[in-house]
Amino acid sequence: MTPRIVRRIAELREEVAGYRRQQPEAARVGLIPTMGYLHEGHASLIRRSAQENGLTVLSIFVNPLQFGPNEDYNRYPRDEGRDIALASASGANVVFIPTEEEMYPEPIRTTVSVSGLTDRLCGASRPGHFDGVATIVSKLFHIVLPDHAYFGLKDAQQVAVVARMTRDLNLPIDIVPCMTVREIDGLALSSRNIYLNHEERSQALVLSQSLSQVPGWIEDGMTEAELVVRIRGKIRSQPLADIEYAEVLTFPDLTQPSADRPLRDSKEPLLVALAVRFGKTRLIDNVLLFPSEVK
Ligand code: AMP
Repeated sequence: MTPRIVRRIAELREEVAGYRRQQPEAARVGLIPTMGYLHEGHASLIRRSAQENGLTVLSIFVNPLQFGPNEDYNRYPRDEGRDIALASASGANVVFIPTEEEMYPEPIRTTVSVSGLTDRLCGASRPGHFDGVATIVSKLFHIVLPDHAYFGLKDAQQVAVVARMTRDLNLPIDIVPCMTVREIDGLALSSRNIYLNHEERSQALVLSQSLSQVPGWIEDGMTEAELVVRIRGKIRSQPLADIEYAEVLTFPDLTQPSADRPLRDSKEPLLVALAVRFGKTRLIDNVLLFPSEVK
């Protein structure tokens, strides 16, 4: 069925309230916040929500608050027609596409800031980014009042930040982390992949290729420091790769694992996260490992 396209907050609230009135006992609302230019990664989140909820709301909003002054806000890819077709094919019931004016009618004075988790990884190189994310996600949560909200683990730090915000603020919303969807050759799907030229795209495969070796390296007994050296070396074998970070942290608290003990002894899940530039394009990727998977 074609989804309803909604551009106003009041109209979206009415759609959700109308659905809840029709299903007083069994209403379940799923929300997938996105910035559009949808791909199979987004589609997998929409499909999951459609399976688990009676109403699936997809939001498409390129949120200026989460972009730094020298980032790609103005050139971020946009294609509303294509997005609506993909949302429809994946099972979204409502697609919310607000204007900037609708979301920020006046300069915002209230923002949401999650401390600690946001000063590392992407937060270190993108100051203010996660305040922008937490603020827009919080606004969307308050507008839609979903039961479930779906986020991709490709942005693992975002999952950690949103889950912590939800817990700290006692929001009655279940945060559902979803597996990263990849191209056949391993490249994690991203709206930004279209910026890559042929050579950059081919060298970018080093990210997924090196991450796929991580479980074996951990099984072999590597420490955090050894793993970081190994993965950096492998990424540097591609001349166009410019590493912003390559780190091993616990998940979801994003703390440093003890430096001199083998990672396989970790009691907490481990996140190996990468941010690497190829030309002008900054790509991120990661692998998340649970203790039972590395023993
Ligand atoms: P974005 O439009 O990039 O802000 O992403 C919207 C949502 O889709 C976020 O929760 C992302 O983590 C998720 N997402 C993006 N790429 C992927 C992917 N390759 N696999 C799974 N989820 C993804």
